[in-house]
Amino acid sequence: MRASKYHINTLKEAPAEAEVTSHQLMTRAGMIRKIAGGIYTYMPLGLRVLKKIEAIVREEMDRAGAVELLMPLVQPAELWEESGRWTAYGPELLRIKDRHQRDFVLQPTSEEVITDIARNEIQSWRQLPVNFYHIQTKFRDERRPRFGLMRGREFTMKDAYSFDRSEEAAQASYDNMYDAYMKIFTRLGLEFRAVAADTGSIGGSRSHEFQVIANTGEDLIVYNPQSQYAANIELADAPCLIATRSPAGKAMAKVATPNMTKCEEVAALLKRPLSDTVKAVVLAVEPTEEIKTVQIFVLLVRGDHELNEVKAGKLPGLNQGFRFATDDEIKRTFGCSPGSLGPVAPVGPVTIIADKTVANMHDFICGANEDGFHLDGVNWGRDLPEPDLVTDLRNVVAGDLDPNGGTLNIQRGIEVGHIFFLGDKYSKALNATFLDTDGKPAIMQMGCYGIGISRIAAAAIEQNHDDRGMIWPEAIAPFQVVICPLNAHKSETVRNTAEQLYQDLISYGADVIIDDRDIRPGVMFAEWELIGVPVRVTVGDRGLKEGVVEIQHRRQPEAEKITVAQATDFVL
Ligand code: ATP
Ligand code: MG
Ligand code: MG
Ligand code: MG
Repeated sequence: MRASKYHINTLKEAPAEAEVTSHQLMTRAGMIRKIAGGIYTYMPLGLRVLKKIEAIVREEMDRAGAVELLMPLVQPAELWEESGRWTAYGPELLRIKDRHQRDFVLQPTSEEVITDIARNEIQSWRQLPVNFYHIQTKFRDERRPRFGLMRGREFTMKDAYSFDRSEEAAQASYDNMYDAYMKIFTRLGLEFRAVAADTGSIGGSRSHEFQVIANTGEDLIVYNPQSQYAANIELADAPCLIATRSPAGKAMAKVATPNMTKCEEVAALLKRPLSDTVKAVVLAVEPTEEIKTVQIFVLLVRGDHELNEVKAGKLPGLNQGFRFATDDEIKRTFGCSPGSLGPVAPVGPVTIIADKTVANMHDFICGANEDGFHLDGVNWGRDLPEPDLVTDLRNVVAGDLDPNGGTLNIQRGIEVGHIFFLGDKYSKALNATFLDTDGKPAIMQMGCYGIGISRIAAAAIEQNHDDRGMIWPEAIAPFQVVICPLNAHKSETVRNTAEQLYQDLISYGADVIIDDRDIRPGVMFAEWELIGVPVRVTVGDRGLKEGVVEIQHRRQPEAEKITVAQATDFVL
């Protein structure tokens, strides 16, 4: 590729609405352009990244024995009525009508269509197991599309669906996908963690999320480095953060598993979705044998504006039963002053407290609106230093003992993949049967497996960047190598050497771009650092006099001088 013939259009400033690094950098580098809230054009540079992610995902899915097809974006409402999700899915499902006033949806996921395919295509046990997948546009009318490609309304997902003869076989298909996902995220060059997860609106019983570790992630992960235990904090099975008074009277957090006394109820409380503003629930319990009363501290993440709204009673769902904790109560419960409350202190004037029994609280919280408690209009980063909450939760949890051995830790993550064991949830509703070995019809057992292709691009940036721009993992960089000839229009030697290098690299199959635009070296370097191409080869008159070019990895502080003859080998 020649930069002069390509489309490169970088911006000095990110749009004000871009709150996270990936959104800012992708916009500045000209990888994405917004057309409406949560809807973006993938510009040429951005598309190259997505295609590379897709290729890796496709290769590993094929290798794992999955079969690619392509299901439509627009799907008839009838299928969604059959599964019950036409009403159950809620406002994230974009419903549209055709000219005959018939109802359709833009697919947010494809369980219905694939189950319809399966019931029509699969007659016999001989055709099982089978795993179909596609890489397709999804539409979810997210309540708050934000963070660029991280939470779009239109986005690209790989979704796969397995069909099996028995539950046992379906579990094996699930394990097979789990392994494929481990390979995929390893090949993408990301630091990630597989965590036990909740099944949400997709349904089913067994589920793992694949989380890219990054401070800007919207999920909290609890993990134990010793035991490999890792779970999304919103999961009931996950350890709950339970703050207790330690014998010495100091605040401390303990971990309770659902099989501890009464903790099932406590865990159920945590299972409700955390909203944008309610980031954690801390249950304060007296360290007695049986947990009878529980004080619930809802950690409201908010600025002064929202705090005033709460005080004025304008927070839906939190008006009755809750009031602010008094300093005395905080001291009594946590054994410390409000200012040193650990997880609560950094989120501003403390929380809301209610001393009711678990059962009452459960009722109360179930009465809140579907996403949990809302506060709109919080400006992250301005009203609140988001990562601080994690840091402080980490401080509280770190070093605490896991009842099963080892210590616990908390991290923030970005959900980039999610696998579910579905059982017969959809196959039963849509009557997807096959003739089993005994000649009798049986219901297929299913699993479904998603990967957020476009979200991965954003997650990779959240994890890999510096103050100059993005630092792409090799496998998904828009280009692997950029050749930067300095003042080439003035020097034939520079032009020729750079061109020869370019041709050599191409002949070896390298993914290389040569910057043959007539621009100043400083501008050129800044642009490629912003775009984050992993390897830069600088060809300049000064170096050529010594017979060398400079090669610098985007992560390295200094360039290395390599002879022209060795440059190709060095880069490859
Ligand atoms: P989230 O919790 O972030 O809303 P989800 O649990 O609703 O995601 P799934 O239904 O599990 O998402 O979909 C599979 C994958 O699709 C997710 O793991 C994520 O990588 C991706 N994804 C989901 N919603 C979006 C979105 N709005 N923008 C980009 N990618 C998304
Ligand atoms: Mg979602
Ligand atoms: Mg999720
Ligand atoms: Mg999910």
